[in-house]
Amino acid sequence: MPSLDQVYLDYNATAPIRPGVVAAMAEAMQLPSNPSSVHGFGRAARRMIERCRQVVADAVGARPGEVMFTSGGTEANNIALGSVPGPVAISGIEHPSVLNVRHDATILPVAESGVLDLDEAQAIIERECPALVSLMLANNETGCLQPVSELAKITRACGALLHVDAVQGLGKLTVDRDAIDADYLSLSAHKIGGPQGIGALIVREDVPFRPALMGGAQENRRRAGTENVAGIAGFAEAIEAISASEIERVRALRELLEKAVLHCTPSARVIGSAVERLPNTVALALPGVRHETQLMRLDLDGIAVSTGSACSSGKVAVSHVLRAMDLPVELAESTIRISLGWQTSEDDIKRFLESWSKLAGLVSRAPITT
Ligand code: PLP
Repeated sequence: MPSLDQVYLDYNATAPIRPGVVAAMAEAMQLPSNPSSVHGFGRAARRMIERCRQVVADAVGARPGEVMFTSGGTEANNIALGSVPGPVAISGIEHPSVLNVRHDATILPVAESGVLDLDEAQAIIERECPALVSLMLANNETGCLQPVSELAKITRACGALLHVDAVQGLGKLTVDRDAIDADYLSLSAHKIGGPQGIGALIVREDVPFRPALMGGAQENRRRAGTENVAGIAGFAEAIEAISASEIERVRALRELLEKAVLHCTPSARVIGSAVERLPNTVALALPGVRHETQLMRLDLDGIAVSTGSACSSGKVAVSHVLRAMDLPVELAESTIRISLGWQTSEDDIKRFLESWSKLAGLVSRAPITT
């Protein structure tokens, strides 16, 4: 939980865990609970997992038998991409856990708006006939929603399967697997106030599947190993805590932030503002101030935001997402990501704006009004 004097605005990296989730996990950890044991403890754990599986299935309009728990979004994406023999095509703005699985993947282009170029994608898919196409539901850096169901019509017509990384969509949008028409759908708990290290891959019953872990018969023989019982309990609890009113509250705070920022620093630019975006995400460019400078100055004021990508060296690199959108380098190098969530308050936004004003050196010229 962020401390009281800090402002956490990096929910797309990981959301603070919800108190109800901690309680549900603590309860699940009280008892020895191997769901494969046939005694009463084991059967109780099995019942609990199956109830949670139902919660996850309901959240995306799938059947419980289609839900395979994983160690998170990365594993879900890896399994989906590795399950289908044959060529794959993926968008250039995917998370590294999709981008770095198949080095022979064809990259589908994204327009400057931040959205997949559907006409180009269709031409490529018709020409190359991939066996699997992967497109995320919403981008983690810009929040831009992607045309997944339109793409599904194209993949269906070409006989390709569709994988959708819905990690950033869950809890912020309605995620309906059938409306999207996805064959594989990836989810992760820690983006919605659940624990890290647990997620799910929703797999249609009739599509190819290659298990990543071999051993016991857990997860319908699809993923061997004793289940993460407490993680699964926390995942379901986090899903149950999501509400439409929370999403709308967050959207209103995001709008407040954007309006005040653009008033205070008219040269600032909201990346992807021309298209529909996640309600909690702002990719904000302040031309002339490098992203790492913004990040460090905000951090000194106790405000946690992020830039697109951090290299393993700890240096800040230009985001592959902004590069794929073909944004001018000066803009890409001055963009930070601010992402809000269940615990964000109006006070947090005011604190951010105070710090932003200092950063822009514009307090005296245009005092911020919220
Ligand atoms: N996909 C997207 C779009 C993400 O934003 C992330 C996390 O940053 C992942 C996948 C990976 O999820 P996890 O951290 O659960 O492995």
